[in-house]
Amino acid sequence: MIAQRMSEIDSSGIRKVFDLAQKMQNPVNLSIGQPDFDVPEEIKTEAIRAIKDGRNKYTVTQGIAELRDDLQKRLLRDRGVTAESIIITSGVSGALTLAFMVLVNPGDEVLIPDPIFMSYRHLASFCGGNPVFVDTYPDFQLTAARIQPHITKKTKMLIINSPANPTGIMCTTRELREIAELARKHNLLVVSDEIYHDYDYHHEFDSIGRYYENTLILDGFSKSFAMTGWRMGYAAGPAGIISEMIKLQQYTFVCAPSFAQYALSRSLETDLSKYIESYKRKRDLLYDGIKDKFRIVKPGGAFYFFPQVPWGTDEEFVATAIQKNLLIIPGSVFSERHTHFRISYAASEETIQRGIDILNNLARR
Ligand code: PMP
Repeated sequence: MIAQRMSEIDSSGIRKVFDLAQKMQNPVNLSIGQPDFDVPEEIKTEAIRAIKDGRNKYTVTQGIAELRDDLQKRLLRDRGVTAESIIITSGVSGALTLAFMVLVNPGDEVLIPDPIFMSYRHLASFCGGNPVFVDTYPDFQLTAARIQPHITKKTKMLIINSPANPTGIMCTTRELREIAELARKHNLLVVSDEIYHDYDYHHEFDSIGRYYENTLILDGFSKSFAMTGWRMGYAAGPAGIISEMIKLQQYTFVCAPSFAQYALSRSLETDLSKYIESYKRKRDLLYDGIKDKFRIVKPGGAFYFFPQVPWGTDEEFVATAIQKNLLIIPGSVFSERHTHFRISYAASEETIQRGIDILNNLARR
């Protein structure tokens, strides 16, 4: 009864973790992929105002003009990216779904760094494409040299996610320039997921869109403004791609949530520095707390670490952590390897400290 394409999607890894987590009472939860603060007050006020003003109907498919214009201007001002066209989507997930459906033909190869956020591989398979993994262990740096050997005649596009989930690693400007050169040589489309760009602790973030015009930038507000439930994102890039995404949005998502579009169009300049500073402190707290007992790369962005497990497989280590009341995610949820685990520090400092204590006890089995 169920369509064949669903057999390409596997959610067993993460489901196992959540099944185990169900039995936990008051867990030390360092598994969560969303900020622990609430939507900034001024944005909430704008959202309530939008609802009261009757901004509750469908918007145009591509999203309201004032928000699209502002986002395009900000891409140029803040990232040096000239985007031809833009569509507002239901989160970055909505943008990814539209982009993959519009771009991936059966048999196309999609280059995906490993480890990585799991949606890309499932969407590629869902569209009949073949995910091809570019191994980035042990430093998780995506480089042209690592990508090059995987390019074939069937390679269609390359996914970049910087700062990255699950490692927090960012591509350097030099790496991005080299990747851009490689992509140009092989006429690849680059899809750059920049959802964590505000979580940039050393002002090192750069966008490949500056160096390569055949780039589709995906970005959203779930992480920056802690509004994962509002479902707001956008895609910006070549007009030919965006117009096809708009066509498909018309028959799928219809439009992004209207009140949120109006609220965001009035609050894009909200100052996030105090939140980002506090996340930098959390990063340092967790890193300093576990660095002596774990092999770990200290990243400059996002809110994750991806340390190596000190013993056993990732599943064995995580199962034991869960027995000790600590919730973390086995690395194989994000990777072909079973050697690492993901910790999120999107939690209170007290929770992080409890997590540090449990991890350090677990390091010596
Ligand atoms: N991309 C990455 C790298 C993510 O980590 C996430 C959320 N965990 C998303 C996209 C999706 O975010 P949303 O759909 O909430 O915008």
